[in-house]
Amino acid sequence: MPFPLFRLGRLQRKVLLAISVIVIVPMLVAGWLAAEWVSISFEKRLQQWIVDAARSNQHWLQAYQNDAVILGRVLADDPAYVAKVERNPEEAIPLPVQRISQELGINLIQLYSPEKKLLYSSIPVEVNALWERGQTEAVLKVVSQQKTMLAAVGITPIPRRGKPRYYLVLGSLLGQDFTDELAQLTGLKARLYYREGKKYFDLFSSPGKVIVLKHLPRMALARLEKDKKPYYSLEAENGQFRGLYTPIVDPTGRVEAIMFSGLEKRGVQEVLTNRAALFLFISLLGVVIGGLAGLLLSRLVVRPLEYLRNGVMQLAGQNFSANVPISSDDELGDLAKAFNAMAARLREARDEQAQRFQKDKLSAMGELSAALAHEIRNPIGIINASAALLDKPDYAPEKKTELTRMIREESLRVSHLVQDFLQLSRHRQPSFADIDPAQPLERALDLALAGGKAVTVHREFHHHDAKIKADPGLLQQAWGNIFTNALQAMNGKDGKFWLRSGMEDGRVFLSVEDNGPGVPAEIMPRLFEPFFTTKEQGTGLGLTIAYTLVEANGGRLEALPPEGNGARFVMRFPLYQEAAVL
Ligand code: ADP
Repeated sequence: MPFPLFRLGRLQRKVLLAISVIVIVPMLVAGWLAAEWVSISFEKRLQQWIVDAARSNQHWLQAYQNDAVILGRVLADDPAYVAKVERNPEEAIPLPVQRISQELGINLIQLYSPEKKLLYSSIPVEVNALWERGQTEAVLKVVSQQKTMLAAVGITPIPRRGKPRYYLVLGSLLGQDFTDELAQLTGLKARLYYREGKKYFDLFSSPGKVIVLKHLPRMALARLEKDKKPYYSLEAENGQFRGLYTPIVDPTGRVEAIMFSGLEKRGVQEVLTNRAALFLFISLLGVVIGGLAGLLLSRLVVRPLEYLRNGVMQLAGQNFSANVPISSDDELGDLAKAFNAMAARLREARDEQAQRFQKDKLSAMGELSAALAHEIRNPIGIINASAALLDKPDYAPEKKTELTRMIREESLRVSHLVQDFLQLSRHRQPSFADIDPAQPLERALDLALAGGKAVTVHREFHHHDAKIKADPGLLQQAWGNIFTNALQAMNGKDGKFWLRSGMEDGRVFLSVEDNGPGVPAEIMPRLFEPFFTTKEQGTGLGLTIAYTLVEANGGRLEALPPEGNGARFVMRFPLYQEAAVL
């Protein structure tokens, strides 16, 4: 089966092409603009969402530390508490403080000596690396019950001003569930990188492993550590995420940790932010919509036109039963209805014509039979009467010769009539050949003048080497009838023939003129009528036969007013091959 496009009509293909040009070019431009707009605005929105979520993640973490710092300050500023600590640093936390801290989610309370020696800890934890000098907040790696965790802590020196005698460290232990909690809260993946020395480590994303923060460009680190500003990356965490790195900065300006909040790269958002994919998608959608529109249009408009065209072609091929389906009640539907009505009228007209033709044929046959019967009845009557007279024994013998002559003459007349009539009715199929149009004329003349008739022949041939397509035998017969008439009209006197030829209106003509008495103007219109004759012994079929023979050869026979006195007959034929020189 060929590709469906090749089965479309020419008009359908044109409509489809026009629609493609009209639709596809603007659609590509629109697709490109839309892809640009969607990807930019979607990327912007994603970024905004990530920035907002990261901010709330940061606040979530810092809220723990802020509470710890405030509680630390309150305690450090309370002389009763400080006095109590001084008395017994190992039991430094009074009961009410433990309650408040529990309420605030502070589950780690530690007291350190200025040399960072642990004096008291509310829960047994090991702290790997402690805070730096002057640092007031920190995210520290701790081991509690053989579990590695992070602690977001506030560090308050006691006293707050002057040389510290103790460090009060309050904070919250953060486990794997901390980042999971953040992820649930914001819908984004969260990673917390704590700081140890100059490096940052992630404890939680793969259990049992400590992952160092790397793959960050130098300028990104500079932005985070020096400028203390967040860094947004489309290729974060080894290109798996788009997301924001936020520095967690303590009040002294130290970066204690880096929080990462990001969206994993997969799914719909990747299509919506990828310009090329979007462009492709929108363009494809446009092509499909354009194609469907084209097909719909071709169904609505072109197909009815195709039906009409088929109908017209059928009608042109004489198929009058052609009928066009009426598929709509719009202008095209009206056209189809009008076409069907026209085809029906043509059908009726054709039937009527066929009936009329049959009638005409019958009446022409009747007329012809009547004329023939009339022509034959007279001579038969004469022959009959003469034969009856001859039978009479007392009939004068000298008159019998006269009767015999009459019988012979009349039977000859009937014989001529029958011969001519046969010639007229015989439908010999012409066998065409490319011939010089003067050739049949010359042959007919030779035959007519055979027996040494004294006729002078003048020739003025100007058709050069023009050729016609005709049956030379039939044309010779036609010219023969014309010459017979001419010789009869000249009636033995010094005869003259003028034979002429030439080109006129792209056709070749040949004429024969005699110097007989000519054709009276009043009988001119009846010359080619069957059985019209002015002669005693004529059949009135000679010119009728000549006329049908010339017509059968694609030409025309006419009687023209003569240039001299006699009669003039002309034949015209379409050219088969133009003369080389005219
Ligand atoms: P027919 O010769 O039997 O009469 P035609 O059909 O050949 O029948 O001719 C019809 C009539 O046309 C003739 O009777 C005659 O009156 C007229 N006619 C034909 N040719 C000539 C001619 N060359 N000169 C004068 N009259 C002619």
